[in-house]
Amino acid sequence: MDSVLIRYHEIALKKGNRAYFTELLKRNILAAVKDLGAKEIRSLPARLLLTFKNEVSSSTLIERMSMVFGVANFSLVERTERDIDALRRRILDSLNGHRFDSFRIETQRGDKTFPLTSPEINRQLGAAVKAKSGAKVNLEQPEFTVTVEILPRDAFFGFNKLPGAGGLPVGASGRVAALISGGFDSPVAAYRMMQRGCRLIFVHFHSAPFQDKTSQEKVRRLVTLLTRYQFSSRLYLVSFGEIQRQIVAAVARPLRVVLYRRMMLRIAEAIAREEKAKALVTGESLGQVASQTLDNMTVIQQATRLPILRPLVGMDKQEIIDQTRRIGTFEISSIPDQDCCQLFVPKHPATKSHLSDVEADEAKLDVKELLRYGVENAVEEEFTFPALEA
Ligand code: ATP
Ligand code: MG
Repeated sequence: MDSVLIRYHEIALKKGNRAYFTELLKRNILAAVKDLGAKEIRSLPARLLLTFKNEVSSSTLIERMSMVFGVANFSLVERTERDIDALRRRILDSLNGHRFDSFRIETQRGDKTFPLTSPEINRQLGAAVKAKSGAKVNLEQPEFTVTVEILPRDAFFGFNKLPGAGGLPVGASGRVAALISGGFDSPVAAYRMMQRGCRLIFVHFHSAPFQDKTSQEKVRRLVTLLTRYQFSSRLYLVSFGEIQRQIVAAVARPLRVVLYRRMMLRIAEAIAREEKAKALVTGESLGQVASQTLDNMTVIQQATRLPILRPLVGMDKQEIIDQTRRIGTFEISSIPDQDCCQLFVPKHPATKSHLSDVEADEAKLDVKELLRYGVENAVEEEFTFPALEA
């Protein structure tokens, strides 16, 4: 294949945003294939046509296109002469190996000077496909679709529409900082915010040297996987063990987890502000664990003035797990690790904390100094996709 016809939902776009949206979408599509030798990307009404200098394997194209947010669906297409006989010949030749009982032809003319109208093209090509395949025309629910696109200089045809990743192009909604653990939830939360057009930076808290480095390794693998949707990522690895040790030394058991979380938010906020990120993202889901009761979430969130986005707040664990399988994070998140929040964690954490108690406990700590320590010792790592040959 040497071309892809990409469709997006114009309906979801406000008029004033449309040009910005399509520019961003074009840029992201080109980024997704930057190692494959793209030739150009043309704007057509509600769709884009991406062409390559050389043939690219269909499976690679499908893989790359299905990871670009903002794409409703796409078809792999081939270029032909702008001529009905050439189109018919090429389509019939390419049908070999495709079996179907019903089909439709969908023609769009980006060039109205073509001598035949779209319904006429549909009719002529439909008759030819019917004669060759023996299949019926079904305009409502065809098993097979032939897409035809007539442009001023050339024409394109392809078979079937493949589902895109949906959502909005990454970048359309601005930049946010995602708190990512090696668990199941936070990678899904990150994915969902990217799908809504956010560009993410990632922040992970680890307890090395008190614990092993599995969680960091898992997070690197998760960020590598998620970077395929936004093409480049920065991950901040924050050393949290010493901060936890000081919290443990100063604070009675039940409130420790709430204090850990508040410290995490403060550090993440400082990093977010440095990165000009406008919100924090977590994988919290209401009632899932002790730190995620409504009372505790309220007390925890008051440690930061940035909005906290919680895309999973109303999801069941099973729904979240189902999505990890679709995204491909399930295997990585399943690897046993030593999460920093298991370190020094009481058996019976408080499920109902009060801000005044928490603040009284925090008064025993040098919060500012812990914040400074966390931010200054954070290590940055960069991720890119696709990896270009050196
Ligand atoms: P997850 O599966 O995402 O780890 P969880 O069910 O284990 O979530 P918690 O441990 O209460 O729930 O964490 C709630 C959220 O806080 C996580 O989804 C994540 O956004 C953030 N978080 C927790 N631990 C870390 C960590 N070590 N580094 C960065 N963020 C974290
Ligand atoms: Mg966790």
